[in-house]
Amino acid sequence: MKKHMLLLTLLFWIIPVSQSLAIETLKLQKVADKVYAIVGELGNRSPENLGNNATFGLVITSEGVVLIDSGGTYKGAEEIHRLIKSITDRPISTVINTGGQDHRWLGNGYFKEHGAKLIASKKAVEDQKARTQDQFIMLGNLVGDEGIKGTDAVYAENTFDDKLVFELGGVKFEISHTGQAHTPGDSFVWLPQQNVMFTGDIVYTQRMLGVGSQSNSKSWINVYQSMAAYKPEHIVPGHGQATDLATANADTYDYLVFLRESVSSFIENGGDIIDIGSVDQSKYSHLLNHETLAGRNAQQVFTELEWE
Ligand SMILES: [Zn+2]
Repeated sequence: MKKHMLLLTLLFWIIPVSQSLAIETLKLQKVADKVYAIVGELGNRSPENLGNNATFGLVITSEGVVLIDSGGTYKGAEEIHRLIKSITDRPISTVINTGGQDHRWLGNGYFKEHGAKLIASKKAVEDQKARTQDQFIMLGNLVGDEGIKGTDAVYAENTFDDKLVFELGGVKFEISHTGQAHTPGDSFVWLPQQNVMFTGDIVYTQRMLGVGSQSNSKSWINVYQSMAAYKPEHIVPGHGQATDLATANADTYDYLVFLRESVSSFIENGGDIIDIGSVDQSKYSHLLNHETLAGRNAQQVFTELEWE
């Protein structure tokens, strides 16, 4: 009898957990009327999250849905769509790729198959083309062959140099590319009526941002300022939950300025790149992935500063 009860309790406990596993890696967060953030995991790409280790944006209009960033794989895009279908049955009309990183665009094939129009800056498409092979190798290692099945390199056919404005179902969208940030073609998407800014990889919250060889930390600061000049009430970052401008400033802008100043004074004091790990970034140890990224970020900024 007791054994029976225990089994039943276990069953009840196990079933809901395993059922929710599939969408557990993505969470829907309401930002404004008919505007949502789709928040993915803050850690690395994995077979479970299908490469969706980022935040995406969703705007529902009377003429269809606009998705900001298509996810990291074909199957990852399918997961995003499953989540969207839980709140609307409208078709995905448009997908905007805010940059060249894998999770901004490798779900394009799935949404194109479902009739979506794809938009990206020219610089983002150039970057995607240049890094397609590297991104597939990296995803093969982290997500696995099964997870990347069906994923093809599908580039946006609608491109722009620095600005694209359009309206769908009465909702205005302004996409701006103002320079290189985390990647060469990063853009932000502004909804003037809703006071919402989708930043892609220009803003990271809760976790530490990554300065890589495809980034430019100096230009990133300028791009950030051009985004912040809109004084958005709501920020949907590229990584982390939807938040306000003050949080974005603290986790992205302040960190970038701090990192560049710290590395700059390290160089002025005759520091050698071998000892770059001694640059103290403990002030930002509350940001996730600090242990893995802090040293690499300092090293990358060191290299940048040498060339400036
Ligand atoms: Zn990213």
